[in-house]
Amino acid sequence: MIKLNYLGESLCKECFLRYFEEQVMRVLKGTGLLSRLSGKLVVVATSGGKDSSNALYILKELSESYDYEVAALLVNEGIKGYREHKAKALRALCTRLGVNLIEVSMKKEMGVTIDQVALLHERGKLRLKPCSVCGVFRRYLMNIYAKEVGAEYVATGHNLDDEVQTFIMNIIRGDLQSIVREGPVTRPHIGELIPRFKPLYYLTEKESMLHFILRGLETPYVECPYAKLSMRYQLRTMINSLEQHSPGTKHRLLRVKESLRKKLGQQIIQQRLRRCSLCGMPTSHDICRACEIKIELERIIKA
Ligand code: SF4
Ligand code: ZN
Repeated sequence: MIKLNYLGESLCKECFLRYFEEQVMRVLKGTGLLSRLSGKLVVVATSGGKDSSNALYILKELSESYDYEVAALLVNEGIKGYREHKAKALRALCTRLGVNLIEVSMKKEMGVTIDQVALLHERGKLRLKPCSVCGVFRRYLMNIYAKEVGAEYVATGHNLDDEVQTFIMNIIRGDLQSIVREGPVTRPHIGELIPRFKPLYYLTEKESMLHFILRGLETPYVECPYAKLSMRYQLRTMINSLEQHSPGTKHRLLRVKESLRKKLGQQIIQQRLRRCSLCGMPTSHDICRACEIKIELERIIKA
């Protein structure tokens, strides 16, 4: 039996897998996505880790009933001792599921690997931490490549724990715009941005891990060496400890975020987007964040 503390219930394997799928359907139905997927291509942004592998697995399973196509996209950020192992597991999963895998090299596209970025940060030459660069470049490349293959939607493996961590991070940064914007579906402001959705939005990290094991999915247990440098990592430890003392904390925090989104969503004036003068992607400034970082890195590397 599997105990879900916050529900105060224990579920058998079959009931847990059904519960898991119901929570994914809650995202697809609740956002009106399900009725729009037919005949479309969904690209799943995958890393080879448990969450994105779960997202890929379940979206592929549902694709037969709801008549849409699925492909996987991997951005190889060039982290030695980590990326090659996860990529190997992902290739095996894509073969097992019969899903096409698109592999994109960050080095080739953006001129650097995250290993290089981490070294520059460690030497005090770059203020930005590896995750800050990795996240911006990854989202940028994901959008470009998903568009190139004709995808209508991008799915990511963000789970409930990720959402709660992001919520707290946005509070710390005082970023109300992002709190309001980040939901189970992120709608594009203009044509070039492909809508993103998060099938695991209502599922915790623990539930994701259980699903991964019960479905017989596999990944090597290597962690990105730079994860510990991020604020997210510290928050994760803190929120997990709060959850242990007071079960249901994560779900309550998500509910607070959801009511803020509903109440403030209409009142917050969305930033006007224009095109980046260098790459043409949507941005609220003259130059998008990805181009800005790329230029800064080129300048530091040349110096
Ligand atoms: Fe990139 Fe940070 Fe994730 Fe590592 S932990 S893959 S640096 S975002
Ligand atoms: Zn740009």
